[in-house]
Amino acid sequence: MIDMHVHFFPPGVFQAIWRYFETPGNGLWNIRYKLHGSQHVEALKREGVKRFTSLLYAHKPGLAGYLNDYIRESSERFPELLPFGTVFAGDGHSEKVARRIFEEYKFYGIKLHPFVSNENLDDPRFFPVYETMEDLGKILICHPSSVPAYQRTDGAKRLRNALNEFPRLKVVVAHCGAYEFGDYNALAQDFEYLYFDTAMNCVHTESLPNNCPGREFFFKNQDRIVFGSDFPNIPHSYANQVEALNSFNLGEIIERKIFNDNAIKLLGLNQE
Ligand SMILES: [Zn+2]
Repeated sequence: MIDMHVHFFPPGVFQAIWRYFETPGNGLWNIRYKLHGSQHVEALKREGVKRFTSLLYAHKPGLAGYLNDYIRESSERFPELLPFGTVFAGDGHSEKVARRIFEEYKFYGIKLHPFVSNENLDDPRFFPVYETMEDLGKILICHPSSVPAYQRTDGAKRLRNALNEFPRLKVVVAHCGAYEFGDYNALAQDFEYLYFDTAMNCVHTESLPNNCPGREFFFKNQDRIVFGSDFPNIPHSYANQVEALNSFNLGEIIERKIFNDNAIKLLGLNQE
């Protein structure tokens, strides 16, 4: 099993994120797995995960370089990691950063979280990054939709603006684009390399009602959906996410695609 939506921050940054999640009034949840480093890796291996991404993002200038270096170091320690970094447009030199993390660090892609960074996906400062990624076949994992508690719903439109410029860019829309499932479904019709991850979808958690795009969505997009969990920042047990998808009885072939084969193809890995 490959998990395409796992967060991997340095311990101090994780602590700050968990504090934010658990602050009453932020509309979020208590974190079930407060793990980092080797404990984090071991916990996923116990769940049967063979490879997983290292998603992180910056919320202020000057942080992205530190985060990218942490991932580079961690990927040398943990061969299970599929290294993903990030770019903060406000730092400037986006093109240089992209060259460094893709050519020198060999990252598979980047994560962008427009609501946290306050930088839109169609910000032209990202265009040199997208151009490099398109050339090198790198992957953009992004969270442009309004789940769990964001007010704006223009993310699909902004992603479309970016993809109109870079139509061969490989993109994974996190959380199946919840709650704007229709907008992202439409985007998938127009762009061949658009994927979805399942992080926190269809899990019966009180914190996220309407988090499920429905069984038909999984059939229709069976070649574009990759399994993701949002570990470790989740309120439920890891197994709940796996069970939620299995409960649709999609059949062995589609389940294999979602839990393994689509990610192998997207990442360009050899089948093990
Ligand atoms: Zn996430």
